[in-house]
Amino acid sequence: MVNEGHKPVGMAQVAVIGAGPSGLYAAQALRNAAVGVDVIDQLATPYGLVRYGVAPDHVKMKSVIRVLREPFENGAARFIGNVVVGRDIRLEELREHYHAIVYATGSAIGRTLGVPGEDLAGSLCSARFVGWYCGHPTMASLNPPLDDPDVVVVGAGNVALDVVRVLAKSPDELRTTDVPDGVLRALEASRTENIHLLIRRGPQHVRFTPAELRQIGRLENADVVVHDDGTLGRLEDAGLERRQRQNVEILREWASRRPDRGKPRRIHLRFMRSPLSLEGDGRVRAVTVERNAIDGGRIVGTGQTERINAGAVIRAIGYVAEPVEGLPYDATTGTVPNRAGRVVDGAGVVPGVYVTGWVKRGSTGVIGTNKGDAAETAAAVIEDLPILGAPGRPGQDNLLTRLEEGGVRPIGWEDWLRLDAEECRLGAARGAERIKIVEQLATLDAARMGI
Ligand code: NAP
Repeated sequence: MVNEGHKPVGMAQVAVIGAGPSGLYAAQALRNAAVGVDVIDQLATPYGLVRYGVAPDHVKMKSVIRVLREPFENGAARFIGNVVVGRDIRLEELREHYHAIVYATGSAIGRTLGVPGEDLAGSLCSARFVGWYCGHPTMASLNPPLDDPDVVVVGAGNVALDVVRVLAKSPDELRTTDVPDGVLRALEASRTENIHLLIRRGPQHVRFTPAELRQIGRLENADVVVHDDGTLGRLEDAGLERRQRQNVEILREWASRRPDRGKPRRIHLRFMRSPLSLEGDGRVRAVTVERNAIDGGRIVGTGQTERINAGAVIRAIGYVAEPVEGLPYDATTGTVPNRAGRVVDGAGVVPGVYVTGWVKRGSTGVIGTNKGDAAETAAAVIEDLPILGAPGRPGQDNLLTRLEEGGVRPIGWEDWLRLDAEECRLGAARGAERIKIVEQLATLDAARMGI
């Protein structure tokens, strides 16, 4: 059952689509302005990227959930899970029930390299691999091949570091996290020895946060080996920004260490290198890599190539939003075109439709970045409310009736709380705060059965 929250008559009603951090910050900002909010998510579970994107060992980062759940806890906003907008209900239908719709659907599609062999089995984008180790219900059967000593990861952002860390950590380092049992078993059985991180530019260009970079130097199971072709020594520090200087300092320290200190795994940081092709017979077995040069700020290939064995290749090179049916889409930025959150089509504003989070600005920033972003979108909604027409069939009850008539079984906040309690109960047996229930059907059934 979807919870019945406080619902003053005559209050403007807004649907937020997506119960991740951007959607929940928007729900809070709207609610603070006395707007009624329903948060609709395709999954049966709230928290989006916090639950399915933040790495299992980044436990502190997940504590933001305490803030994100507030609107549901005091009944100010309602959660309607297990409803896919665009499939179970179309945007035009939804608009019959709400004054305004805010899309907070994120960027779920991994960018591609565009090189031959990218479609081979064992070649994965971070969206899938991260979804797998975070227990996303649609990735339960991914079964990434970790049976080869060499894995290649492409990219120099924080997602690449998350992937590298999860691959490099010992099972004991992950056992007390919320990582699903099946993932823990697969990582236990992993034969990974060498993780090669391919970085297309130099040490000063990486997009890592220094605190995240430091973490890979402190793993109990892995040494870091820096392959920089001497660039760190030649690099002038003047002109580097603070974050760049910090990253360069960390990398210099690692470059000066004895590279192999006897740990079972090695993380190879390979700078100025791009994948040229992935090779294998049905499944990826190696990557041909080209060395790059920077010419006038642009990355150019030098023609010098080398081959790296790899039983799996994971690209972590950014994300784009999935196009939303009925809304414009900018394929270059992978976002829905907007002005301060108002969706724009050509020169005109699409009345009553808004975006926030990654679908609005692209896949940048940390979780907290979404707060200010959502405040901007909420302000646009509130400013526009007086000129937006009233919906024909207002109210959540009408929506729920419509969904149920269509055979859709929404999941409410109370259902989620039962699942939440069950996950925590499972966690206790492994010394973890929780263990995620994974398969979507199992999740839904558990909720319906009233665990
Ligand atoms: P990102 O920070 O934008 O990094 C993407 C990386 O991919 C860049 O290094 C980029 O290199 C590289 N790249 C792009 N196209 C490439 C290509 N064709 N070949 C090789 N490399 C390519 O993206 P992200 O790592 O997906 O992270 C998304 C956002 O989430 C970021 O804001 C990140 O900080 C945040 N995040 C934060 C945390 C955390 O705080 N712990 C964890 C995960 C994610 P160039 O620089 O050369 O373009």
